[in-house]
Amino acid sequence: MTAISANEGATARRETGRDAQPSPDALAVRRTLAEIRPVADEATSYFYALLFTYSPHLRDMFPAAMDAQRDRIFGALLTAAEHIDDSETLLRYLRDLGRGHRKYGTRADQYPLVGEALMYALERYAPRSWNPETEAAWVRAYTLMSQTMIDAAAEDEAVAPPWWDAEIVSHERRTHDVAVVTVRPDQPYAYRAGQYASIETPWWPRVWRSYSFASSPRPDGLLSFHVKSVPAGWVSRSLVHRARPGDVLRLGAPAGSMILDHSSDRGLLCLGGSTGIAPIKALVEDVAEHGHRRQVEVFFGANRDNELYDLDSFLDLERRHPWLAVRPVVAEYSSVGLAGQLPEAVRQLGPWREFDGYLSGPPQMIRKGVDALVSSGIPAERIRHDFVGSLVPDHTGPAASHPQAL
Ligand SMILES: Cc1cc2nc3c(=O)[nH]c(=O)nc-3n(C[C@H](O)[C@H](O)[C@H](O)COP(=O)(O)OP(=O)(O)OC[C@H]3O[C@@H](n4cnc5c(N)ncnc54)[C@H](O)[C@@H]3O)c2cc1C
Repeated sequence: MTAISANEGATARRETGRDAQPSPDALAVRRTLAEIRPVADEATSYFYALLFTYSPHLRDMFPAAMDAQRDRIFGALLTAAEHIDDSETLLRYLRDLGRGHRKYGTRADQYPLVGEALMYALERYAPRSWNPETEAAWVRAYTLMSQTMIDAAAEDEAVAPPWWDAEIVSHERRTHDVAVVTVRPDQPYAYRAGQYASIETPWWPRVWRSYSFASSPRPDGLLSFHVKSVPAGWVSRSLVHRARPGDVLRLGAPAGSMILDHSSDRGLLCLGGSTGIAPIKALVEDVAEHGHRRQVEVFFGANRDNELYDLDSFLDLERRHPWLAVRPVVAEYSSVGLAGQLPEAVRQLGPWREFDGYLSGPPQMIRKGVDALVSSGIPAERIRHDFVGSLVPDHTGPAASHPQAL
């Protein structure tokens, strides 16, 4: 096994740019990913088995039942590696990841063990593409990734706690499976509209799930989340059906790149599917607060009319702000909006050349939505959404809720 050094990370950092042609390292990494895809579950189990053998005390950082959790770190590393050529997005993602790992008590000296388990898992489950050049490419990629995460965590230590305790101050059921949960963090919590936080509930220790902030930062410091309960979902079901005012949640550091560039004059085209509409609402409020009014077009997608759980507040925003247009799009027949699939409706009302695109919702909606925006004239670099899982199954950001970042 090749050793991983910080210098190699620096080299890799210089080499990763947004080139038209994939770099040789990116090609090597992608070949491994393609080979491992059909056996991702086995590779993931092997990775964790090795990790816990190397360092049994690492097991304590993970939930008692690993089934739903187990693809998280491995999936995050593979997702990051896949984007090795997209340096700006990758570095932002990794810095969020590094900061976010402080809540697990992760230490810098644990990263080499993770790297070693990763390399052995790749070597075993992608034997056809594994050779000295591929291994060297992965070593460079992992060194860049781990060093970026370590640096971000170290910088964050000086300015923020590893997590925040946050008491639920209101819990409002909007539909049988969607709740708006509002919390008061025990210390100031700075974030930007469009971002999300990891949340741990008292009922599932060490099980963290991401939820988007549903408003721009408020003067009273409260934070709201829209949570949809998914069938057999550990955290979402607890937050919707069990949580009550007075319960205390834990929040990780804010993360995500779906934030506004206030120096731009372009309009905003926002697509929100299901509870994916939450960060879109935060973005609309952010525009309203910045005085510099841009045209904002919001498409709110759902399967049925009664799933448009936040439509009233969007219509209220639309009445108050002449620069805002809100269009509900419902897959089945609709009495309140357009009928059909969200991406298709957006495409039909295009072109959208003068707009920046923002998307939040189930992975499939994001993928089709990005295609629709690109074909409607928005260049890919002006389209923002959080990572949609690629290699590992998308089960946590699925049919009914949100993008799967890791
Ligand atoms: C960046 C980001 C932001 C997010 N923001 C939000 C948000 O604002 N609001 C929100 O509600 N969710 C959001 N999610 C999704 C959220 O993080 C969880 O993945 C979701 O709540 C399910 O977690 P769980 O613990 O309840 O289910 P898990 O315990 O992870 O899953 C339990 C079982 O349910 C399946 N499953 C999981 N989700 C679904 C689903 N939607 N439909 C059907 N089956 C499913 C799984 O495959 C598994 O078998 C976001 C995700 C990301 C990555």
